[in-house]
Amino acid sequence: MPNHFRQTKIIFTIGPATQDVDTLESLISEGVDVCRFNMAHASVEWVKKTVANIREAGQKAGRSVALLMDVKGPEIRTGDLPAPLMLSKGDVVDFILASGQAAEPGIPQVSVNYPKLITDLKVGDSLLVDSGMIRLKVIQKLPSALRCKTETGGSLGSRRHINLPGVRVDLPSLTNKDRKDVEFGVELGFDYFALSFVREAADIELLRRFLIDHHSKARIVAKIEDQQAISNLESIIRASDGLMIARGDLGIECPFEELPVIQKRSIALCNQYCKPAIVATHMLESMITAPIPTRAEVTDVSNAVLERADCVMLSGETSVGKYPLECIRVLKRIVERTEETIQTRPSESVRLETPAEKMLRSAAHLASEVDGSGLVVFTRGMRYPLLLSALRASSIPIYAFTDDEALFRQMTLVWGVEPFFMTYTQDREESIQNALLVLKSKAWVQSGDRLVVVTNVLARSKVVESIQLRHVE
Ligand code: PEP
Repeated sequence: MPNHFRQTKIIFTIGPATQDVDTLESLISEGVDVCRFNMAHASVEWVKKTVANIREAGQKAGRSVALLMDVKGPEIRTGDLPAPLMLSKGDVVDFILASGQAAEPGIPQVSVNYPKLITDLKVGDSLLVDSGMIRLKVIQKLPSALRCKTETGGSLGSRRHINLPGVRVDLPSLTNKDRKDVEFGVELGFDYFALSFVREAADIELLRRFLIDHHSKARIVAKIEDQQAISNLESIIRASDGLMIARGDLGIECPFEELPVIQKRSIALCNQYCKPAIVATHMLESMITAPIPTRAEVTDVSNAVLERADCVMLSGETSVGKYPLECIRVLKRIVERTEETIQTRPSESVRLETPAEKMLRSAAHLASEVDGSGLVVFTRGMRYPLLLSALRASSIPIYAFTDDEALFRQMTLVWGVEPFFMTYTQDREESIQNALLVLKSKAWVQSGDRLVVVTNVLARSKVVESIQLRHVE
């Protein structure tokens, strides 16, 4: 196995701290695999300029990274306030639907952009503002206001994000802004779209239809962020091309002690269905301002690797943080050290459907038996690389060759897969030889190495699936 091989992938969120070509070139050379644009904070002009920077940086670094657009999704926010409202425990506030309503003396009013706020909530429900920093409880439903009592106080400002834990929110899964952003992302050639606040499989299907209508082959990542998504977890995973465990909102919408349980279950389910799993948010949060991680963060990252997530993701650490490059180095050190300790045989729990798919488990077993070996696979739809990846055979690189440029970039997100772009020839043997040459020329393998090649061969006029043990000349 080449010594620079890492199976768990790294997603970084781009922002003012990392948007220039030089920094991006350093990050790409250091090994980031996917660049995430958070559309909650980005204008289309900025995205356009920054995508050009990434492409330039990728060319300079000699590596491609996939582009992931994180679509904002439906969001509930407070309206404008003339000045922040200081709330202390016990203070009463009326949440209303439109500003300008007659207020009750002594009770401040805060408008909210969710038309069904009063009907959907009941007395006793919680309303959380600013990532749960401010907590209120509904004490009375009035015809045009929801009266709440402050449980945890703070300064409530304009346009603050609101979470309503346990409430089935009736908002469109793809807002008008999302549609415009996705259209724009398709034009710019984004490889993945992550859909925020996915609540059911139909949300994914809606975006899938939208992408097909816009002739995009981009893949969809479902961001699970609330209790409804957890109730529909299995069908959401089946409908999507990957899952993001968005621990920021999830930790507000669900009791936080559920978070590790949800993370573990989500990764295991993704693995069974051969879908990539991304662990997101607060992985190295303290490094937004400090050059080294906390011990708890080191353990958190390591746990995600041990749970066999495909990707670990950074948000504020690289978008606005002071130490973006150090964050990538820290992630790599933790990931590589943890991966060294994992010794697993190809998984038995992955759902392999057809006999040809079941053959892949044999290929992975063979590669595990042959010292220093790797798997070579040719693909036009990513199915085989995804299945081989899901088997999670430790220390076995999956060299995936494709003649489709979009797929080549998309595969950078998948655990253990090292993608290569290569045009195929009619002659299968020639394609295999070309692939081996590419691997040798890029120093992934050397003379004397053995590789397990998954390919179909012509036997007389019949196409036969095969596993071949090849010797690198
Ligand atoms: C999250 O909530 O963890 C998350 C990734 O979503 P966002 O950063 O878009 O709020």
